[in-house]
Amino acid sequence: MNAPTATSHLIPEIRQRNVPAALVDALKSRFGAQCSTALAVREQHGRDESSFEAPPPAAVVFAESTQDVADAVKLASQYEVPVIPFGVGSSLEGHLLAVQGGISLDLGRMNKVLSVNPEDLTVTVQPGVTRKQVNEEIKSTGLFFPIDPGADATIGGMSATRASGTNAVRYGTMRDNVLNLEVVTASGEVIRTGTRAKKSSAGYDLTRLFIGSEGTLGVITEITLRLYPLPEAISAAICSFPSIEAAVRTTIQIIQLGVPIARVELIDVNGVRMVNAHSKLGLREEPMLLMEFHGSPAGVKEQAEIVQEIAADHGGNAFEWATTPEERTRLWTARHNAYFAAIQSRPGCRAISTDTCVPISRLADCLLDSVREADASGIPYFLVGHVGDGNFHFGYLLDPTKPQEREVAEQLNVQLVSRALSLGGTCTGEHGVGLHKMDFLVTEAGAGAVELMRTIKRALDPKNIMNPGKIFSL
Ligand SMILES: Cc1cc2nc3c(=O)[nH]c(=O)nc-3n(C[C@H](O)[C@H](O)[C@H](O)COP(=O)(O)OP(=O)(O)OC[C@H]3O[C@@H](n4cnc5c(N)ncnc54)[C@H](O)[C@@H]3O)c2cc1C
Repeated sequence: MNAPTATSHLIPEIRQRNVPAALVDALKSRFGAQCSTALAVREQHGRDESSFEAPPPAAVVFAESTQDVADAVKLASQYEVPVIPFGVGSSLEGHLLAVQGGISLDLGRMNKVLSVNPEDLTVTVQPGVTRKQVNEEIKSTGLFFPIDPGADATIGGMSATRASGTNAVRYGTMRDNVLNLEVVTASGEVIRTGTRAKKSSAGYDLTRLFIGSEGTLGVITEITLRLYPLPEAISAAICSFPSIEAAVRTTIQIIQLGVPIARVELIDVNGVRMVNAHSKLGLREEPMLLMEFHGSPAGVKEQAEIVQEIAADHGGNAFEWATTPEERTRLWTARHNAYFAAIQSRPGCRAISTDTCVPISRLADCLLDSVREADASGIPYFLVGHVGDGNFHFGYLLDPTKPQEREVAEQLNVQLVSRALSLGGTCTGEHGVGLHKMDFLVTEAGAGAVELMRTIKRALDPKNIMNPGKIFSL
């Protein structure tokens, strides 16, 4: 886990609201052992994978049903106390910090797959089910759920952050793969936002409103997801390049030619070295694309041939294929563990991750200048990217005893975000705003759009109890 660092000027002021003892008593009386005020439990729920820190919540409620969630939220509403929904705590932007105090509502025990409908290619799950658990439980149906953030996050947390991952280039993000939600609103009412039908024109799209709302509008208690048939053929390959630019230009051409590649991930040479050391791999220490092709055997062969030609035109080395499922799993596990490999490479370091995403035609412009700036800074870093989507992450590895490193890394991030915005991109492709990107959101969306978001928040949560102080100040 990433280590916390002192709260700095980079995150908003901590403004604790009073949590009356009467509320804690009422929670204990309603929830018994499902409510904890133990310091270790509160501390574990008062932080995420970001390096920010705030005092922990006053209590943690472990919900086991929608009724539990509704009752906890009603009590919090009665006392006007913040409620912070908690999945597994893998978010990266300070989403879970109790900056206005309050209670944490842990959804991890709501971890049942409720129904699988193979004929409709859907599954309905409770919010605490993790992405790996979904795939394990539906294995026998021949279907799979593709969204895969590096951490084994909960479906509730992934919905709340509008997450994506390595497969999004082909299968989309949580925005594209959630059909229906059950939500407990800020007043404790239980609503549904859709149906199991593939499409609908029935009123405002409340599903999309809650997807990406970061726990600020309500608590998601049930999710219906789209599933996909497991591809008949899957091939994964790695290809090394003489430069980052060559790898990026290859990616741009693959996407612009409409090759339906399932995954195309960039790892820079720093990242490759860290992954080699951590996962005991012998990858060639050069910038690398890690790719996967899905389809019929003939389709996969055709895609691979086109991509090999494009890569060769840019000086890419011959593909190294991972043909068995075990080899593929080893490669993708190593990719998913890149963040932890990086943290381990500088013992005691703290990591901050960037998350810009730009239109594919601007990827080289955005990424290459930012690499030059990162190299010139002298701060140890790695670069990984879901580059087929135009999304990439610098991970700066900071020595906590050298605060100037943090200043430099934050300045690099400011420059990167400004560049991405000027190229028609966004400050966050998938991690969300949390605390860390609130200023960037105003620059990106404009004050008017952020004020409209506040208006929606006030209408749905007039007492401002749902994860307050996140996305925008209120
Ligand atoms: C190593 C690593 C790799 C990562 N890679 C990716 C990646 O590739 N793509 C990506 O998108 N993200 C990635 N992430 C970020 C993180 O995994 C995602 O943001 C994930 O969606 C968070 O899920 P969680 O269950 O951990 O939620 P938490 O961190 O517990 O919560 C996240 C937010 O969602 C809210 N929330 C949680 N559950 C609910 C609920 N049921 N109802 C309402 N609100 C809720 C919380 O209040 C909080 O605001 C990565 C993180 C790590 C550590």
